[in-house]
Amino acid sequence: MTQDNLDTEIEKAARLLRCGGVVAFPTETVYGLGASAFDPAAAARIFEIKGRPRFDPLIVHLPATDWLERVALEVPPKAALLAEKLWPGPLTLVLRKRDEVPDIVTAGLPTVGVRLPDHDIARRLIEAAGVPVCAPSANPFGYVSPTTAAHVRLQLGDKIDAILDGGPCRVGIESTIVSFEGVSPTLLRHGGVPIETIEAVLGCAIAVARPEDPVAAPGMLKRHYSPSVQVVLFDGEIPASQGPGTGLLLISGRQVPGGFTAVEILSRSGSLSEAARNLFAALRRLDEAGLRVMFVERAPESGLGVAINDRLRRAASR
Ligand code: AMP
Ligand code: MG
Repeated sequence: MTQDNLDTEIEKAARLLRCGGVVAFPTETVYGLGASAFDPAAAARIFEIKGRPRFDPLIVHLPATDWLERVALEVPPKAALLAEKLWPGPLTLVLRKRDEVPDIVTAGLPTVGVRLPDHDIARRLIEAAGVPVCAPSANPFGYVSPTTAAHVRLQLGDKIDAILDGGPCRVGIESTIVSFEGVSPTLLRHGGVPIETIEAVLGCAIAVARPEDPVAAPGMLKRHYSPSVQVVLFDGEIPASQGPGTGLLLISGRQVPGGFTAVEILSRSGSLSEAARNLFAALRRLDEAGLRVMFVERAPESGLGVAINDRLRRAASR
């Protein structure tokens, strides 16, 4: 796409957002399905299009930190510090919301999840729309998140008003979510910013909500990010193929025994950021390979590996 075309596409998409439209756009994490965060009817369309339950709140996206005052009542000093050091980027802060943010966006909670995406197209789109944009991932609820415009087109193309194509997403997994609702910050979801980075910025350890804690992350379900084919996780040695229709997904490159119908290697060198970037597209390819089962290797449980394993656990859950 030429620069002029892109400018026109962004302007058109921004106009749609201002008039209650629903538009898919790239961010550094995954493709989002956006609507004006101040328009309850437009937000309702997002829930309908995705088949997303209404108890699952949407994250509100801003183009600049000074927009925070339009959606958040207050920004505690530690939240401001994280925003200063880690925005734009894959970090969502949960803060007390202003009345202007409709209940449907926050699933009736008194808080709102906000973030500044680190993507030029996302930032320009929201700025041109002139309103904060609520956006979950642009896929049917529960399925693997989209990391290319083609993923979005395939599943939601005929249901939405526009798709902006920014190429493949750089980070490839969703944002890390930190809540400031309580007295001290709590990590609600592992994501594109490793917890080690957050703790280094804050200079202290932070609490991590347990997955079974219902107040922790409304809408975060045990089964999510799920391909249709059965997913079986493993560590260490590669399991033997179960015959035709067996797929294999490896985090890093190594010798693969015979007998697998399809094999995906997320990063030959074992880079966890490369593995995260390739994860969802690889799961989709395996899901389309006519398999009966896929064996999926767990990542090392540190840095981005924690978020990768969180997604894999949910993908494998039935
Ligand atoms: P996503 O599906 O990546 O758009 O992220 C949405 C998730 O963010 C939800 O499923 C919630 O777990 C979390 N979330 C969003 N807003 C809030 C909030 N106000 N309080 C707690 N969690 C939130
Ligand atoms: Mg999602």
